[in-house]
Amino acid sequence: MGETLEGVFSIRGLMGLCHLLVDERREAVLIDTGLVGERYQIQRIFRRLRLAPSALKAVLLTHGHLDHVGNLHWVKQWSGAKLLAHQSEQAHIDGTFAYEGSAKWCGRLEKLGYRMLSYRPVQIDHFIAEGDELPCWGGLRVMHLPGHTRGHCGFYSSRHDLLFSGDLFASYFFNVHQPPAVLNAAPELIPDSMRRVRALAPRLIVPQHYDVFDARLHAKRFEQLCRRVLD
Ligand SMILES: [Zn+2]
Ligand SMILES: [Zn+2]
Repeated sequence: MGETLEGVFSIRGLMGLCHLLVDERREAVLIDTGLVGERYQIQRIFRRLRLAPSALKAVLLTHGHLDHVGNLHWVKQWSGAKLLAHQSEQAHIDGTFAYEGSAKWCGRLEKLGYRMLSYRPVQIDHFIAEGDELPCWGGLRVMHLPGHTRGHCGFYSSRHDLLFSGDLFASYFFNVHQPPAVLNAAPELIPDSMRRVRALAPRLIVPQHYDVFDARLHAKRFEQLCRRVLD
């Protein structure tokens, strides 16, 4: 946990990361909410910055897999933040998404997780869609990047030329990869989503699963992955 880029706090949990963004007005948004342990880190950052929970205005959800929504119910209760997500993610948040084929395993694992964590679903407050401009952190544009899930979204800051890319890819030293097939609801849509990010070519990319916080490195690794799987 720590401030990595100015105003970006990475919060590392059991399976992946979520990110807290704080702007100069001292308003915050959270990109995803993590699974186990993140809530204590989130509270710790708020204490350190002397921010009240009400400073958290919104949760921007990349998608509704359990490792991203595990603390959603708590975050909303604690802060009163609104949940912004693509309409298609409600079924994932509710745990009612009908996985098909090999992705059924994803559903089985999530069902186990819901029970272990006493998970409670919540309603999306505002639906987001491709091209929406969100008035947070100096402006974030929604990029609808379906494939991993149908409503999977990234968030692009033109001010920083930085894309929060959700689970479009995972970035590890020995293994830069697309999410495993069993986790993808609509794999046929992934190449096009990757091409759109590649065309945007952001200088900085922050995925939600990675080894080190180095947004330039993740952008480079993404291009390498594209060369491998798209060219
Ligand atoms: Zn996922
Ligand atoms: Zn994930």
